[in-house]
Amino acid sequence: MNNSENNSDKIFSDDTHLIQSFADLNNLKQSIGRLAITGAKGVYVTDSEGKRYFDGMGGLWCVNIGHGNADVIAAVTRQLETLDYFSTFFEFTHPVAAELARKLATLAPDRLNHVYFSNSGSVANDTAIRILHHYNNLRGHPKKKKILSRVNAYHGSTYLAIAMTTPVFSQGWDAARDLVHHIRCPKREPDEMNLSDADFIDILAEDMEQAISKIGAENIACFIAEPIMGACGVIIPPEGYHKRMLDLVHAHDIKYISDEVITAFGRLGHMFASKEVFGIEPDIITTAKGLTSGYQPLAATILSDEIFDVISQDGAAFLHGMTYSGHPAACACALANIAVMEREAIPEQVRKTGKLFEAGIKSLADLDLVKEARASHFMAAVEFNRPSGAPDNINIGQLVGDAARARGLIVRPITDAIVLSPPLILSKDQIVEIHQILHDAINAVAQSQFMLESS
Ligand code: PMP
Repeated sequence: MNNSENNSDKIFSDDTHLIQSFADLNNLKQSIGRLAITGAKGVYVTDSEGKRYFDGMGGLWCVNIGHGNADVIAAVTRQLETLDYFSTFFEFTHPVAAELARKLATLAPDRLNHVYFSNSGSVANDTAIRILHHYNNLRGHPKKKKILSRVNAYHGSTYLAIAMTTPVFSQGWDAARDLVHHIRCPKREPDEMNLSDADFIDILAEDMEQAISKIGAENIACFIAEPIMGACGVIIPPEGYHKRMLDLVHAHDIKYISDEVITAFGRLGHMFASKEVFGIEPDIITTAKGLTSGYQPLAATILSDEIFDVISQDGAAFLHGMTYSGHPAACACALANIAVMEREAIPEQVRKTGKLFEAGIKSLADLDLVKEARASHFMAAVEFNRPSGAPDNINIGQLVGDAARARGLIVRPITDAIVLSPPLILSKDQIVEIHQILHDAINAVAQSQFMLESS
């Protein structure tokens, strides 16, 4: 490329050097669907034309403390000036990674005290599986390797994490599928809508038990589950579901991994959701995103004392390592981010404002176009009814997403739904404004020519 080609117009109009994530690359080649975000502050982002939007996605479920926090930026800068990088391989360590590991051990449930750092949620989940496989080898159970996951799960995009993710996300692609079995998730089928929570949980437990007896507990290492399923549309389990699943897998010597990549660091009103919100103590928690509010790439795999005792026994080499594990700048960022959350009591605040956000989302269910509106604190999804005559290529979520964007709010469309996970620092007035935009956007789509012709 010569320099004259390297100007911003080119970058935003027809650049194919950057391969975007989960995108239609053919559309991108033709400049369809590209929006360049060039700045951010607080709960807003700005595009390359200078238009301002509410960041209804919190970046990608991650900017929990809002954009541009001066304390966090200063902490990262200071760290880069002091120690920009050194590895945590072999016998090396540095204070900031050790301090963050200690901090996470105090925030996580009691038995979870040992932390391996990586730089994405996918790798944190891969790390959890590698460690559990090694743990089972050391315990003399070399066949105990299979993974129970769930339909509608999202656990990442590496070869193993995508195999744990719901199969539609890897249609046409390969994945380490032989290792994974997907059971049902807590989304009710149409004929289950009137069941009590207890009866519905019985059905899900039965599905889990059938999978265990078919595969054989002696072949299963773990069950992995998001406390609330995010990427497939904010699926909120009935009360008691996670506890039942945990008791069931533990009865079969199967470990429970709680994938808190989204749900930790205040999004549901607590630093971690497993114990405080869902009343369980898993064997491993993986987390990322809100850990640094997205300012630096960092993820953590937090192990129970029991797992750590086995993998740290005499003669058991830990053959796992990432160059950037415990990166000083990322760890300093996480410590500063957690300090902001603690000082400003953000999780406590979320228990109030998050409830307001939740109530506003649920009230959208009164609109005709809305099939279901689900929310818990600052995780939300709105699912839409498809008019009977709507062509297959029409995506109602996209139409509502576009209408919201035109009104100054970025949300994430997924087929016939939208999901939201805004920064946790939204004021009450801003929450009201977002609900008004959603209300107007949904009504605009409902009254559009396309809808009138399709119904
Ligand atoms: N687990 C969950 C629950 C997620 O939502 C995500 C990402 N959205 C991941 C894992 C993967 O994280 P990353 O994209 O950082 O690899």
